Amino acid sequence: MKKIKRVHVKPKVAAIFKVVGFILVCLLGIFIYYRIQIHDLKVLGYSEEASNAILFSKNKRNVMEYGENKTLNAAFESEAFKQEYLNNYAKIKYVDHEHLIDNIHRLLKVGYSNNDINIILAHGTDESVREFAKRDRVRYLDDFFSYDFAKLENYDRYVAYSDETGEDELETILHVNLDIDKPDYEYSHVVSKFSLDMLVNKHHNLTEDFAPNDLTTISKEYTDEDDLQCSRLALNAYMELYKAATQEGYSLVINSAYRSYQDQVELTQTYLDAYGQNYVDKYVAKPGFSEHQTGLAFDIGSRNSRVFENSKEFAWMKDNAYKYGFIYRFDERYEDLTEFRKEPWHYRYVGKEIAKYVYEHNNMSLEEYYVLFLEK
Ligand SMILES: [Zn+2]
Repeated sequence: MKKIKRVHVKPKVAAIFKVVGFILVCLLGIFIYYRIQIHDLKVLGYSEEASNAILFSKNKRNVMEYGENKTLNAAFESEAFKQEYLNNYAKIKYVDHEHLIDNIHRLLKVGYSNNDINIILAHGTDESVREFAKRDRVRYLDDFFSYDFAKLENYDRYVAYSDETGEDELETILHVNLDIDKPDYEYSHVVSKFSLDMLVNKHHNLTEDFAPNDLTTISKEYTDEDDLQCSRLALNAYMELYKAATQEGYSLVINSAYRSYQDQVELTQTYLDAYGQNYVDKYVAKPGFSEHQTGLAFDIGSRNSRVFENSKEFAWMKDNAYKYGFIYRFDERYEDLTEFRKEPWHYRYVGKEIAKYVYEHNNMSLEEYYVLFLEK
């Protein structure tokens, strides 16, 4: 008979196993409990990093009461987190700024309320908020920043411009955002990319070598000029417009379209010789600052009338051009924004969507449209 060999575990070792087992079970329990806590926070949209910080700072109950909150999430992710500002974080709307939490602290220290900070953040960039937080508290935030398109970095210019001109807030913002408070031509943004919504005026200029990438010659059916060119996109739209106008008995002609930088140099010289510097300064766009260089602008005439403004074609264009993507560009109502006097003959192709919007909003200027929707 074989002897069954029994392994005897020494009592001491058995006790150690028990203790270790117990500790492991406890640790597992703690771990599971901890993961459940984290899970609760993650369900509310908090990141792993933020959730950990929330648990370790014993803020879970507070956070659960606030619920989902991206600013709180950012605060807990940040090393700058301050317990005393918990309530502020929760009431300040999140914006995607790198130094959001730092900037909030600075603004709170300057004495701004949560509501003020919401206004400041909504109108500023990370950088401009940082700069703004360095100055003493500004008292009249609501005046300018009730408009979405007011920019924090322009605050001082808004104040100066409205003091100087007496313009209301809206007009002030429009003028300053368009840099009209600065000298024409001297202060200008360079526009290098061709697009239907590009803005070219006395503060937005094209480089010498800019030309639309789809230049095409306009057939003599539409113009009496030789070798007149424009953007193919604009021409296609114009052909549609022309067809409709012709069918309804109107007789249009294109007198000018694309003009290169060099063309504008020569044109300026011609006017200079004929009418002098004052005239040129007032009425002729400097090279690079003419919308004609985009290839999207047309000077339209009537074959029935020498003065376009008095023609039935002019009346038709004003009410129909938008259907084909063209806008009436230089109205006397907003000469202060375009900085060009009235030009009844000048139309600009912007595409149907923008043209329709502009037409339906009292034929607003392209400058105003730019400030409302295009400005970055
Ligand atoms: Zn023109």
